Amino acid sequence: MGETIVNYSNIFKSFGEVDVLKGINLDVKPAEKVALIGPSGSGKTTIIRMLMTLEQPTSGTILVNGENLWQMEKKGQIVTADEHHLRSIRGDIGMVFQHFNLFPHMTILENCMLAPTIVKKEEKSEVEQQAVEMLEKVGLGNKIDLYPSQLSGGQKQRVAMARALMMKPKVMLFDEVTSALDPELVGEVLEVIRDLAKEGEMAMILVTHEMDFALDIADRILFLNDGVIEEEGSPEEILMKPKSERLQDFLARFN
Ligand code: ADP
Repeated sequence: MGETIVNYSNIFKSFGEVDVLKGINLDVKPAEKVALIGPSGSGKTTIIRMLMTLEQPTSGTILVNGENLWQMEKKGQIVTADEHHLRSIRGDIGMVFQHFNLFPHMTILENCMLAPTIVKKEEKSEVEQQAVEMLEKVGLGNKIDLYPSQLSGGQKQRVAMARALMMKPKVMLFDEVTSALDPELVGEVLEVIRDLAKEGEMAMILVTHEMDFALDIADRILFLNDGVIEEEGSPEEILMKPKSERLQDFLARFN
């Protein structure tokens, strides 16, 4: 069967009367790069927000590294996960959002240092050195003392990536990370993700509208439509030889 780092099993999610996810089954292997494509409102963001524990499924289970995200065993009984359990699993997951969510009153170095200092209680000088290295990696080594407001959108998004990487996640989630950017800034952000993908160790789940990018880096693409995975396969299968009419219609919009 092979190893699995993330497993969604029969996931349903409703917001009030609205059924958003209708039976999602998904296995992601360590180091696998999975792209989620599909029309707006089809449930892509909800799928990845669940892994960050930002949304809870209405039914179904999600396992990270074999551990159930929302349930834990206590004295031989299965009970609802407590905050400690959630935090320990969440430590394996990093997320980059469409809007960068940086802290405006902190320099970009401080932004990158915050979580490891607080959550992992690591030595400050060591965290600082790692943060500098991470910012160098995303091409911002000469900007470490600037504040988010002094950066372009593309630079801010690269800081957000460096910050997520500081926690050394096993899985990185990217939620339409280029869609709030001016077109000329998209390339630099995709380039950083491409480099990360090539390094290879982390699993990645990417919600994206950049089809060329998905073709380039994804091992597998899932086409989500109306809360179900309507079609999935290799990038070539999905983007060059789409089977379902809905996927064909969806892709036609990008040509
Ligand atoms: P996508 O990422 O494919 O655009 P989303 O997962 O963001 O889709 O949203 C799927 C549907 O769920 C949309 O109809 C959206 O309005 C609805 N939705 C998402 N989050 C909430 C929420 N917190 N409360 C109510 N409805 C929500």
